[in-house]
This record gives sequence, C-alpha cells and structure tokens, in this order.
Amino acid sequence: MDTSAEKTPVRLAIVGLGKIARDQHLPAIAATPGFTVAAVASRNAALDGVPHFPTIEALLEGAPDVEAVALCTPPQVRRAQAAAALAAGKHVLLEKPPGATVGELAPLAAAATASGRTLFATWHSRFAAAVEPARAFLAEHAVRSVTITWKEDVRVWHPGQGWIWEPGGLGVFDPGINALSILTRILPRPVFLTAAELSFPANRQAPIAADLNFTDEAGTPIRAEFDFRQTGPQSWDIRVVTDDGVLTLSHGGARLDHDGRSLVDGTDAEYTGIYRHFAGLIARGASDVDALPLSLVADAFLLGRRRSVEPFED
Ligand code: NAP
Repeated sequence: MDTSAEKTPVRLAIVGLGKIARDQHLPAIAATPGFTVAAVASRNAALDGVPHFPTIEALLEGAPDVEAVALCTPPQVRRAQAAAALAAGKHVLLEKPPGATVGELAPLAAAATASGRTLFATWHSRFAAAVEPARAFLAEHAVRSVTITWKEDVRVWHPGQGWIWEPGGLGVFDPGINALSILTRILPRPVFLTAAELSFPANRQAPIAADLNFTDEAGTPIRAEFDFRQTGPQSWDIRVVTDDGVLTLSHGGARLDHDGRSLVDGTDAEYTGIYRHFAGLIARGASDVDALPLSLVADAFLLGRRRSVEPFED
C-alpha cells in the first residue's frame, strides 16, 4: 500500500513553467498528497510565493532542501538537466518524451541507481482511464488488427512552440508518441515497425504527418496515422479488432467501448496518476524508465520515407 500520503510531503521543484507545467503538473500536485511545490526554475516565468531561479543550476545551488524535480522543459534540454539533478541527489520526473535520443536514457537510469534516487520517465497517456482495462481485455483475446488515428491541430495545442519543429522536437510524433505509449502497454506482444512515410514541411526539421505500419510476431497488421494539420474535430483513437468484437479507445484513452457499448468513460486524471506513481517509486527506492515508445519513433526516423510538403507557418 502506498503510505506516502501520511509522510512529510516531498519538496518538489518545477523546471520549465510552460504549458504542461501550468495546465497539468501544478493542478495535479495540488490534488495529490505527497508533494509540495518548493521552487521553480524558469527563464521567464514565476509562481507567486514560490522561490524562483532562472536555471536548474541556480536552483540546485540555491535550494538545497529540494528533494525532487519535475522536468517540464522540451526534450532537447532535458538530459543535461536530469543528469545535474541526479548528481545533486534529487529524484527526477521526466515529461514525455523522456529525451531527444534513446541512448541518453541508459546513463541517466544508471546514475539514478548509483545515487539511490528515483528516475521516472512518464508516459501520461498510460494513466488514462481506459488503458489498464484495455490491457486486461487484450490479455484474454486474440488481436486481429489495430488502427490508430491521432490527428490534432498543432496551432491549437502547440501555439508558438518553436522547439517542436527543431531536431529532437519530434514534430507530429510529440502527440503521436502518446498513442505509441498506449499501444505498447495494451498489446500482449512486442510490436515493431515495418514501413513509414514522414511528411516534412519544406521549412521545418520535424514531420507534420506520419503514416506508420507496425506488426508483431503473429503478423498482426497495425496501422497508425498521425497528423498535425487536423482542424475541426480532433482524433485520438485506437481501434482494436479482436476475436470477440471491436475495442475502441477514444479521447486519448479516457474512454473505452466494446462493440459500441461503453465500458469506461473516464475523466482527465492522468497527471494525478503520474504523481501517485512517482510518490510510490520514491517510497520504494525504485525507478521506472521505459524507452520503448521513443525507440519506435526513432525507428520511424530510421526507416521512414521522407516527403517534402508545403511550408508550415505558425
Ligand atoms: P512549452 O509550453 O514550450 O514549455 C516549455 C518550458 O520549458 C517553458 O517554461 C520554457 O521556457 C522552458 N524552456 C524552453 N526552452 C528551453 C531551453 N532551451 N532551456 C531551458 N528551458 C527551456 O512546452 P510544453 O507544451 O509545456 O511541453 C513541454 C514538454 O511537455 C514536452 O516534452 C511536451 O511533449 C510535454 N507535454 C506537453 C503537453 C501539452 O499539451 N502541451 C502534454 C503532455 C506533455 P522558460 O524557461 O522561458 O519558461
């Protein structure tokens, strides 16, 4: 049983006070026993009444009583921040994707083990309400095919986020990796990429759309379509045809239908789930680092055909 609620709250610092820190981390921390926001590191933003530092280095120097950091910065700068925090004896929570490369994760995990601290590479979509019920269902049924449709309007969800179009920013894989984090959690067998086509705006370093084909050792067809150019209704859906009807995860994994019958109609509790899990990991002296969704994205960059499409302007 997680008894973290009864203990002194972990003194946590937020690093990078951007969209996700404000939209999700701060409300989830406030709603989850076990943590208190003790400091913020941000170049441009601050929180009333909370000690502020311009960089993580200044924070580690100036707030030695901070016990954990939540890195809410873009993936390109996170490895160095995580390494500095672990070297200073802090527990580290990484936003997704856990880094800009797959290879940088093993040294971080080793540093966490060596210092006896927790490293938690979060996949927020895995905490969506339908994910564990879907995993349980699919453990008992044969999977015939999977279709992922993950299409959103980049101008609505990532306004002015220049980092997303830079190398390491992932482009449309920034949301698409959430679908892959669900896929790799709910399917009973490992999946691997067989073909991909990535559409790069002529003026950008990251794809705006991707068509992906995966399979598994049983030859199951698994198709994913990611697109950042969606206007109107947004789609974050995974449809799994099984030997016992069709299972549909929708709304990013919050809802689950079986042959049109609702099994789960969840509310948005992904980040409270993340912080409860982080508290449990810290209490047990454990880490949780799964690079698999990022590996699948790296494979798409390795194997994918590239197509140049019209320039994208924010
Ligand atoms: P964002 O709004 O651009 O915020 C990023 C934060 O990091 C800002 O506070 C920013 O600047 C700081 N930062 C940016 N570049 C930096 C650099 N070079 N060095 C140090 N700090 C830097 O981005 P976001 O949407 O919150 O996304 C951050 C991460 O969360 C991404 O990995 C994203 O995939 C993930 N995420 C985002 C969402 C979402 O809906 N937006 C959902 C789930 C996960 P300041 O230092 O100026 O404050």
